[in-house]
Amino acid sequence: MEKKGNKLEIKLPLTFQVANIEKLLNDQKEWIKKRWLGNQAAVIIDDKIKIKDYLIPFKIRLNIRAKYLRMKFHSDGTLLITLPSVKLQNKVAEFIGSHSGWILEKYLKFIQRKTFFTLFGKEIVIDRQYELFSSSHKINYANGRLRIISPQGSDISTYDIYSAWLKHFAKKHLVARTIELSKKFGFHPNRITVRGQSSRWGSCSRKGNISLNYNLLKFDKEMIDYVIIHELCHLKHLNHSIEFWKEVESILPLYKTIVRKFKEM
Ligand SMILES: [Zn+2]
Repeated sequence: MEKKGNKLEIKLPLTFQVANIEKLLNDQKEWIKKRWLGNQAAVIIDDKIKIKDYLIPFKIRLNIRAKYLRMKFHSDGTLLITLPSVKLQNKVAEFIGSHSGWILEKYLKFIQRKTFFTLFGKEIVIDRQYELFSSSHKINYANGRLRIISPQGSDISTYDIYSAWLKHFAKKHLVARTIELSKKFGFHPNRITVRGQSSRWGSCSRKGNISLNYNLLKFDKEMIDYVIIHELCHLKHLNHSIEFWKEVESILPLYKTIVRKFKEM
């Protein structure tokens, strides 16, 4: 346990159990009180809880400016629990216990979304090797297997390499598919670009330029086509009016089930 600025940081072993949180905070109460500055101190417990067969990372922060005991998921999949007062320490285990269904559901959604290496809705196998005298990364994809050969000692993560490859692959595939669908359904986009917008799957500008997110390639082909057709229909209706949705429906009669798939992610 150590004091870092206005935070008290506690690091625990992986095997730490939820039921022991209360005891731990209780045992350390005096120590915490002594070092707690009284306005914005925080205790951080950094560990994993086991719910069914899943080990879920969580952190507990002690923040007296908070009003309630609350929890939320951080975008990296860590469960963050905010404790407004040391007095509420005995509520933490119960709080986690009574929300375990919610926690697991959220966590599973998170890991599904992050199912790290996918292409067209299917998981792909990553085969990464290191070569002593190699000076660059060599990537080759075939039959659901991505082979990566990296220079020995490279510290680029496998996810970053996969992501760069996905972007490269998406530039060819998404542009070609957009041209194909445009011809088939009589659309005339001006320019088609592939980018990594974090929050949008696609966009269509007033000038008729269509932009698609390369992460779309992680989804099944039906979902990819939906996004492309959605953006192509914006060439005729630059809004989400009834006429716009009628246009989408005339091409994809079952588009609503695909929209639902996106919403359920
Ligand atoms: Zn739209």
